Amino acid sequence: MHPTTIAAETNSSTQGCLEFASLYQHPLLEEPLTSSACADDRRQYMMMTRKAQNLCLECPLMTQCLYDAVVNHDVAGFVAGTTPQQRKEMRAKLGITVAPEDFDTLAGVTARHRQVDHDEVVRLRHANPHESLETLAHRLGCSLSTVKRHLRKHRAEADKPAPKKPAKPALAEVLAVYRAMVAPSHQRRAA
Ligand code: SF4
Repeated sequence: MHPTTIAAETNSSTQGCLEFASLYQHPLLEEPLTSSACADDRRQYMMMTRKAQNLCLECPLMTQCLYDAVVNHDVAGFVAGTTPQQRKEMRAKLGITVAPEDFDTLAGVTARHRQVDHDEVVRLRHANPHESLETLAHRLGCSLSTVKRHLRKHRAEADKPAPKKPAKPALAEVLAVYRAMVAPSHQRRAA
């Protein structure tokens, strides 16, 4: 097997998670099994995991999907032949951390009495540099001292040297960890 691919050698050109969306989106696969889960749920979980894993192994996107799910995005559910717990263990082995996806923030959902968002204060300040801070506070529905506090924080952050981004692991490293920790035994033997 080529060291930078893990998809099984098949003629499959479809993504199992699209074709069998109800399997991947089943509540049992979406959420980790709890310790109080009954025997039936455990059995069903094992069957569904095995089926999803086989589909992922036949998927032409498996290699890139695995890399993204481990290194770039901490998404929920069964992805690229792995459970969220397995991806967490792989990240620990690789020495990386990935912040969980915040879909509320991505979708721009905010509560009615939400806290003033730091980035919003800075963005509005930059967009309206000639506006008084009082007007900015009025726009944001907060106090003048809150606006000042956020702008002070922004200035302090701007003065700090930019933190170095940790290097991402190479694809080959991720695949090696996958094979060692997650891959079914027949794939480990073939590696
Ligand atoms: S490898 Fe990724 S894209 Fe392919 S079936 Fe699995 S989850 Fe879907």
